[in-house]
Amino acid sequence: MKQSFVTAAQLEEITKQYQTPFHLYDEAAIRQKARDLYQAFAWNSGFKEYFAVKATPTPAILKILQEEGCGVDCASYVELLMCDKLGFKEDDVMFSSNNTPNEEFQLARKLNVTINLDAYEHIESLKQAGSIPEIISCRYNPGGTFSLGTDIMDHPDESKFGMTKAQLIQAFKELKQLGVKKFGIHSFLASNTVTNDYYPTLARELFKLAVEVVLATDVHLDFINLSGGIGVNYKPEEVANDIFKIGDGVRAAYEEVLGAAGLDKVKIFTELGRFMLAPHGHLITKVLHKKETYRTYIGVDASAVNLMRPAIYGAYHHITIAGKDTALPTTTVDIVGSLCENNDKFAIQRKMPEISVGDTLIIHDTGAHGHSMGYQYNAKLRSAEILLQTDGSTRLIRRAEKPEDYFATIAGFDF
Ligand SMILES: *Cc1c(COP(=O)(O)O)cnc(C)c1O
Repeated sequence: MKQSFVTAAQLEEITKQYQTPFHLYDEAAIRQKARDLYQAFAWNSGFKEYFAVKATPTPAILKILQEEGCGVDCASYVELLMCDKLGFKEDDVMFSSNNTPNEEFQLARKLNVTINLDAYEHIESLKQAGSIPEIISCRYNPGGTFSLGTDIMDHPDESKFGMTKAQLIQAFKELKQLGVKKFGIHSFLASNTVTNDYYPTLARELFKLAVEVVLATDVHLDFINLSGGIGVNYKPEEVANDIFKIGDGVRAAYEEVLGAAGLDKVKIFTELGRFMLAPHGHLITKVLHKKETYRTYIGVDASAVNLMRPAIYGAYHHITIAGKDTALPTTTVDIVGSLCENNDKFAIQRKMPEISVGDTLIIHDTGAHGHSMGYQYNAKLRSAEILLQTDGSTRLIRRAEKPEDYFATIAGFDF
């Protein structure tokens, strides 16, 4: 059973204070997650997590992660600006962008953050950006399919990201000539993996590549960035990943491959987003209407603008009813928002306990790629974000948008 991190009584208090819908985050669990991750990789003395900002670009959340020792992984101009203002400096920041506009390279160089080059061709852009950094990373794409055992996990050959092995080796040689002193290797081969084998398998592949690349180029390899991709158990029948097993698996590969080749000072970096935050956020919404036609529709005050994943990926998010955690499913419903789009459904033909108008629904695992993917279709506004703090009190960390916010960018009319 999927548990909520708030009790029904707590939620009743919180919904008296803040109007639904809103995203609610669990500070204590976020801190614990970061501590577990650092513990699991404590065997590697340079280990660092660069939280993937796109998952939850919320300053109060980024500050919590910063206090727990994390850096940030940025992919755009504004993410870089925001993280700079939050005090993430130089090697606290990984810039893993792609199809990168020149002004973004210029800002990345000005801030002296670690650039993770997505394309061999971007070496030219980097030269144009003015100066060559002392440290740089290159993103690898092995092509083909990526499998774990007999399961095909993803198709790197269809992915726009990264460079081929030959390009990576050539890039290292050229960048070394241009004055780069230290190098990193990065790769992201599968998303939302619910298995403890993804990271160890990816790591082994990257470690072998690293040995080959160092032999071919004689560069100083500073780090290997395993990137994101460790997933979460969105479905109640799935088992959560065990970060300690994952850390042990990476360690075994490290000792066997890098250790044996004398590359035992290489730092391990991660850029986890979903794994760090998804389970520690809920989208809280109230039931406005019940409608009976060919199906039973439960209409809530949130919509796909607050959580886009079900609409665009058909993603499953578990939904529970506050105060009815142990009630058995007796009815089959579609749980829907109010957009004029029939894909605006949080659940389709879901077996649920009896739901009444006025009930508070908890949509689980929305802490990553939830609020951040929000948009304003139908002139629906983005919701507030609330932090459930370690002491049990709540704090507004982003207010809900107001009509004035929507009108603010319109030119030629005065609303
Ligand atoms: C999205 C992304 C991540 C985070 O991925 P998760 O699946 O959320 O862990 C990390 N690195 C890069 C470059 C990304 O684009």
